[in-house]
Amino acid sequence: MGLEAKLTQDGFLTTKIDALLAWSRKSSVWPMPMGISCCAIEMMAVGGPKYDIARFGSEVMRFTPRQCDLMIVAGTVTYKMSHVVKKIYDQMPDPKWVIAMGACTSSGGMYRSYPVVQGIDQFLPVDIYLAGCPPRPDNLLNALIQIQEKIGRTKGRDFQNKPLSELNVIQNN
Ligand code: SF4
Repeated sequence: MGLEAKLTQDGFLTTKIDALLAWSRKSSVWPMPMGISCCAIEMMAVGGPKYDIARFGSEVMRFTPRQCDLMIVAGTVTYKMSHVVKKIYDQMPDPKWVIAMGACTSSGGMYRSYPVVQGIDQFLPVDIYLAGCPPRPDNLLNALIQIQEKIGRTKGRDFQNKPLSELNVIQNN
């Protein structure tokens, strides 16, 4: 998890504000665990000592969306539940990222039926799709590492001057 920096002859470490911000962001990604069905059991396993998500700075699972950067949607999302998922996503502050964990979340999985959303990208911007039924906890950690690499490539201006329609406006009702 390197910070792009240079060590000068005088012993000073120099870097860019953009690099420092991206390094800070990617080193403390706080997940919003959106566990909906069986995939959530594997998601919970990453918090235990065996997989230990704390090694990646993401052990602070938050159940309040206003303190989260990363939504992990794990499970079969029905149309009825999709409104709840979208509302919680909208309440997360920008910038934010999304992992679709498992076949159901990514594509509806085996549920080719009218109540199930055939992939959460129908109503959310997804950054990583995670294959498996369910994916193993180490696959989820791999997805987190890929999100961190993605965040590491961002610049401060990527999140500035967004049109009003793209800003995260919290609805009161
Ligand atoms: S992908 Fe498999 S394990 Fe995950 S929610 Fe669907 S049926 Fe359950």
